[in-house]
Amino acid sequence: MFAEVIIDQDARALDKIFEYIIPDNLNVGEGDRVLLPFSNRIVQAFVVKVKDNCEYDKSKLKKIVSKVDEQRVVKPEMLELMKFMAKKNHLTLASILRLFIPAEMREGKVKELFHTFVVLENEDVSLSKSAKKQAELLEYLKDVKRDSLTNLLKNFGASAVNGLLEKGAVRKEKQEIKRTPFVMSQSDKSVKLNYSQQNAIEKIKEDKTYLLHGVTGSGKTEVYMNLIERVLERGKNAIMLVPEISLTPQIMSNFKARFGENVALLHSGLSAGEKFDEWKRLFSGEARIAIGARSAIFAPLENLGIIIIDEEHEQSYISESNPRYDTHDVAQFRAKYNHAPLVLGSATPSVESYEKAKTGEYELLELPVRANGKELPQIQIVDMMNEIRMGNTGIFSNQLLAELYNVVNNKKQAMIFINRRGYSSFMRCRDCGYIAKCDDCDVSLVYHREEKRLKCHYCGKQFKVLDRCPKCKSENIKYGAVGTEQVMNKLQELFPDVKVLRMDNDTTQTKNAHQKILTEFKNTTPAFLVGTQMIAKGHDFDKVVLVGIVDADQTLYHADYRSTERTFSLLTQVAGRAGRSEFEGKVVLQTYSPKHYVYKFASNYDYKGFFRKEENIRQTSQFPPFSRIIRVLFSDHDENYVRETLKVCYTEIEKLKEKYGKGIIYLDAMKSPIKRLQDKYRYQILMRLKNDIADQVEDEVYSIVKSAAGKASVFIEINPQNMS
Ligand code: ADP
Ligand code: ZN
Ligand code: ZN
Repeated sequence: MFAEVIIDQDARALDKIFEYIIPDNLNVGEGDRVLLPFSNRIVQAFVVKVKDNCEYDKSKLKKIVSKVDEQRVVKPEMLELMKFMAKKNHLTLASILRLFIPAEMREGKVKELFHTFVVLENEDVSLSKSAKKQAELLEYLKDVKRDSLTNLLKNFGASAVNGLLEKGAVRKEKQEIKRTPFVMSQSDKSVKLNYSQQNAIEKIKEDKTYLLHGVTGSGKTEVYMNLIERVLERGKNAIMLVPEISLTPQIMSNFKARFGENVALLHSGLSAGEKFDEWKRLFSGEARIAIGARSAIFAPLENLGIIIIDEEHEQSYISESNPRYDTHDVAQFRAKYNHAPLVLGSATPSVESYEKAKTGEYELLELPVRANGKELPQIQIVDMMNEIRMGNTGIFSNQLLAELYNVVNNKKQAMIFINRRGYSSFMRCRDCGYIAKCDDCDVSLVYHREEKRLKCHYCGKQFKVLDRCPKCKSENIKYGAVGTEQVMNKLQELFPDVKVLRMDNDTTQTKNAHQKILTEFKNTTPAFLVGTQMIAKGHDFDKVVLVGIVDADQTLYHADYRSTERTFSLLTQVAGRAGRSEFEGKVVLQTYSPKHYVYKFASNYDYKGFFRKEENIRQTSQFPPFSRIIRVLFSDHDENYVRETLKVCYTEIEKLKEKYGKGIIYLDAMKSPIKRLQDKYRYQILMRLKNDIADQVEDEVYSIVKSAAGKASVFIEINPQNMS
């Protein structure tokens, strides 16, 4: 027998099928990991095909040495998915296979965890009178029958344990211990589904994609759980994705409460051991529901009955570093392969997805009201320019301050949302306008007050704080806009008796930090929680009656066609945190551009109105989903080399204009907005294409880049999320 294999190394040169002989004594099948000789070394490889014959000169073929795992690690579905992703995302086969098997499994660094137990075998042994400890141990074991060796050694001593072992009264036994991730415990509350929920559940059964558009608090989680329940009853399995699990501990505890051991978690916050064990529980079929962030879409579950993507509009579903892929595409493939429905849920679907629902590609299902019948909180827009005119140059408007006092007087809670991290962002010279930048990255440095350092948020490099401007020598140097830390300090100053907590990237570096902050907040009144995007997600705190949004405009003025959409979605999410229980909620939104259409629609929770406006703008300006953007990003330490490579590729790509004419709406080459990152120069080719020719052009661009890119690193991005 012969095997077609893929060498487990992510290199373009090795990105092809190699053939090997399967020795007669080795039972090798498709999807097996094997060891084999390759250019004078023994390397790991994946078997993708087994066949009776091969066209090569058989005397030149080498033999597979051995198998790595007992079981087949890559199931047939995943081999098909590999082919699909290779074609769609132009990735090397090895890099795709690696996505299917977590690093913890591949490198053999993490192993199963075994504990030794002592089991009672024979209680009728005779013990000498002096062996008091042995007698005690025997009595204890008569009662419990078995206990861990460590425990017994601690409580009875080694000589007692060894004594009973020698006499054959007890024996040792090894048992695998599963490392289980921590989940906040909670009891399962069963609810009576409302009409919209029931309707959604009944409709979702076909082999297609459903867009579940439900306002915040409309009970989407309950719908997901019911769908999954039904799937399990039919003997099938489920995958549910959430944008970032550490931010949504409540969803986790809901699922654990309902499904117990059937749930396995896959996300980056787990220890290596936990990830290894959870993956194995899914692989063996012990767990049947995979819940996790993006990478959980590759969960080793067969026979899927449903795939759910919660908060489907979230950017984190798109992998922006190598290997690049969009989770939606993978989910669609797996759903189709398994003849299972794919459910996309959101309070603010992406414009792309909603457009697909409009054209009938997806089926739209709606949950128009909050499940508990409460109104969505009223959103009050405050014009900060007006505040300045009235002499208030502080962080908080008078309205927000008044509401904060109310919260404190009523012993309730408020969340203050701020769209940035660190104390204040830029260091700016008031006299000449100089802004401190990173030496390597050409981006503004961020001032961190606790450490008194300037940090580059791209490469992590740190710098000393400046006390005078390097350009004009002025000492009039100031820190720019507000950040979480500054807001927290100001609040603490204004409300010395109120607990003020802060949640952002800096305060959540340690394991379970999110949980700790959230638990403390939950249990304290009055309390304020100041935070970034992290506090916008699915938290369900019943005492939060106020959400303050400081500086709502932050995401609005990025040079990116999706920035308005993102702002709308963020505002809706944050506002949805208030008034989720019996207490009425309120939102105060501070902005310097109150006339922007995004605020009008957001304050009325008018997603459809917003969508129509946004759809119209994108249609007339020919932006996605009414066109496709391709960015080819070149980077290298040698600036001349990048420019040369860019030129070569550009000349080739420009020729496509003749072929496709008006199909190419826009094409240009330029420096990237961030001209240097980690000491590499960055140049880009940007193009916008009409949808009907986009697939063809995309393929052509890929092959041009493949043959002309040389050694510069090149990334091709389709409708990039981030254009920096
Ligand atoms: P979403 O994910 O849509 O924002 P959740 O699933 O978090 O909403 O639900 C919000 C709250 O409503 C939760 O506390 C949930 O337990 C509750 N809930 C869900 N469905 C119902 C229902 N049919 N009746 C009463 N309460 C419900
Ligand atoms: Zn200056
Ligand atoms: Zn840097």
